[in-house]
Amino acid sequence: MFPQEAEIVVIGGGVVGSAVAYFLARAGKNVVLVEKGGRGGEASAANAAFVWSITRKAGIDIRLAMHSFDIHQQLQVELEMDFEYVRGGGLMIIEDKTQLPFVETHLQKRAKDGYPLEMIDADRVLELEPRLARERVYGAVYSPIDGFTNPIFLVLALNLEAQKLGAQLLHYTEVLDIGVTDGKVKSVITDKGTIKTQTVVNAAGSWGGFIGDMVGIQVPVSPFQLAMLVTEQLPPTLSHAIMGASYMVEEDTGKDEGLGGGLIMSQQAAGNLLIGASWRKTGYDRRTIQEEIELMARVNVRAMPMLKTVRIIRSYANFFPNTPDDLPILGRVDGVEGFIMACGHCGHGVGMGPGSGKLIQELICDGKTTIPLDEVNLSRFR
Ligand SMILES: Cc1cc2nc3c(=O)[nH]c(=O)nc-3n(C[C@H](O)[C@H](O)[C@H](O)COP(=O)(O)OP(=O)(O)OC[C@H]3O[C@@H](n4cnc5c(N)ncnc54)[C@H](O)[C@@H]3O)c2cc1C
Repeated sequence: MFPQEAEIVVIGGGVVGSAVAYFLARAGKNVVLVEKGGRGGEASAANAAFVWSITRKAGIDIRLAMHSFDIHQQLQVELEMDFEYVRGGGLMIIEDKTQLPFVETHLQKRAKDGYPLEMIDADRVLELEPRLARERVYGAVYSPIDGFTNPIFLVLALNLEAQKLGAQLLHYTEVLDIGVTDGKVKSVITDKGTIKTQTVVNAAGSWGGFIGDMVGIQVPVSPFQLAMLVTEQLPPTLSHAIMGASYMVEEDTGKDEGLGGGLIMSQQAAGNLLIGASWRKTGYDRRTIQEEIELMARVNVRAMPMLKTVRIIRSYANFFPNTPDDLPILGRVDGVEGFIMACGHCGHGVGMGPGSGKLIQELICDGKTTIPLDEVNLSRFR
């Protein structure tokens, strides 16, 4: 039955909204999650599946990531469904000498902040991942705590548990507007009916700006398309989450406006390799194009020549909910009582989403959070 009223309405059923809804339900709140699509959300069901800290910057970024790592482990114990979270270790491959200055600066900043990383040489990289091409590896940054998950199972596991705890999940239900009177949230208007509420969480990922418009605020989140390939199932082939350092260099130098690509690889529990990635600005267009499929295949075959004879069974693309400073937007919004932001997780929402869900629950239930959210409040853009 369509709910007439809720203590809290969460907009968006990706990893972030699902984590918010789960933690609120666990805290005994009457929560309704509204998602315009099916289970899994958008980017949360179509990504590279890394739970990754290596490229997270010193400061609030790495603190949020580390907190979320703990939450992933906690969820592994709490949730009934296995979401295939493996801390197999992460390798950021330094592909050539030109990437070294960027990597070294990053390592220095992280060490200064108390989150050091280890640099390893090519021989050690090849010991860890013998199928990589020797000539493509100059060295790597290694993190034993990084790894990957099955993000679709993660969302499903959070949803099932939230429902058991009494949360109501409305899929294929679109939020059309938010009722605000005297600067206070009063209702959420959907295409299936109106829900009275005083608290709304904007967990709409790349669509977070449209939800902001509904209450008259500007939310600087924009979609940035990234594509991936899925191979046929293979016997154990890779044990680490692997990313090329080009991602970090791109982040530092500003992402190319055209078609770009960099190395990403991991192996899911079912044996399929997720390989990628390519990026381009497409607005909200999810289609993949031949050029990006070829680019991803080329980049990955170069890095791991055995892939040449492996079949690709699928390609997909979705959007990073991008923010200008590569950090999420979390917390209350000045001037709109009852409106809470939980979007803009950029390329790190699978890793950071569960942690954000817990922090938003703390904010709503206790009025304070384990990690202060001032630095990631929307007000930083004003
Ligand atoms: C190819 C690719 C690879 C990536 N790799 C990684 C990775 O390895 N590790 C990592 O940590 N991150 C990765 N990311 C980023 C990560 O996927 C995102 O940061 C994360 O999924 C964002 O989660 P979310 O819940 O905020 O957004 P989403 O999953 O997009 O969910 C938002 C939901 O809000 C819903 N919504 C929007 N508007 C409305 C409305 N009006 N009414 C109702 N519902 C609405 C949408 O339908 C959507 O389902 C990757 C992203 C891509 C595209």
